[in-house]
Amino acid sequence: MEPITRRSFLTLGLRLAAVMGLGAAAAPAMAEALERIVRGRAPALWLQGQCCSGCSISLLDSEPLGPDQLITRHLALAFHQTLSGATGHQAVDTVNRAISAGGYILIVEGSVPVGIPRACIFGEETFADQLTRAARAAKAVVAVGTCATAGGIPAAEGNATGALNVPAFLKQAGIAVPCISIPGCPAHPDWIVGTLAHVLQFGLPPLDTLGRPKAFFSKLIHDQCQRFADYERENFAQNFGDDGCLFRLGCAGPITKADCNVRQWNGGTNTCIKAGAPCIGCAWEGFAAKRDFPFYLKNGQLRKDG
Ligand code: SF4
Ligand code: SF4
Repeated sequence: MEPITRRSFLTLGLRLAAVMGLGAAAAPAMAEALERIVRGRAPALWLQGQCCSGCSISLLDSEPLGPDQLITRHLALAFHQTLSGATGHQAVDTVNRAISAGGYILIVEGSVPVGIPRACIFGEETFADQLTRAARAAKAVVAVGTCATAGGIPAAEGNATGALNVPAFLKQAGIAVPCISIPGCPAHPDWIVGTLAHVLQFGLPPLDTLGRPKAFFSKLIHDQCQRFADYERENFAQNFGDDGCLFRLGCAGPITKADCNVRQWNGGTNTCIKAGAPCIGCAWEGFAAKRDFPFYLKNGQLRKDG
């Protein structure tokens, strides 16, 4: 495993300070937050409900060493269903010990099947009960990914399991712990790590009315788009692979707030629209909720014909 030096922390702190719009002066403080995470002085517990683990994989997958890898390779997580080695009774005991100690940041990936509670269990306990106990003992909750923040795919039209998003579940359960929402299917690693470091070092970041960090979710994809000039000229792509604005192929950039077009993915290599794929609104609060969403339609039929 690659050793992490003080210089590495400062470099990563500088990147995160920029990511959060905090300016270079905040870099040492962000570096300190990362160091606390890595040295295990920042307890965190990661629980999963109804999800595909895609947000965890998103965090694992970036190159070269960045804050995201720092978290996944070095974070002293009390428990993470995908990454932790513990299984069976050992896993249940580990989670219960963490909950008894309390005071951690609770990261939740996935929605809660309140209609069929036993659709999602951990040991013999339903996820709904586990989340209730864990959230009551947490310092803050970070809902990661659109399943956790808005219901996502599990809550799509029909919603067989009665999937509920995490902020709504906490409200319904009367749990008043601060809750931050980081949408995305998956969530970008910078969004997750930047938010965690900010919570540790400065407390809650500025949030919008949906509980999302404004640093990442204050502008529409559309307003930061490489193809915006094509949109204004009404130069619309008719088929996938065409140049031009992707609006008529079902692009959800005009309704989705996220900074994908400027941040880009895979270490800043590329992003959906730049690669020729319409934004499917994975960070939008209504993502995948209705059958007429362009995501489900062949060749973006809704806007092409409508
Ligand atoms: S490709 Fe999408 S986000 Fe970009 S300008 Fe067209 S509609 Fe807007
Ligand atoms: S561009 Fe749209 S679909 Fe692509 S990752 Fe960002 S929000 Fe999701």
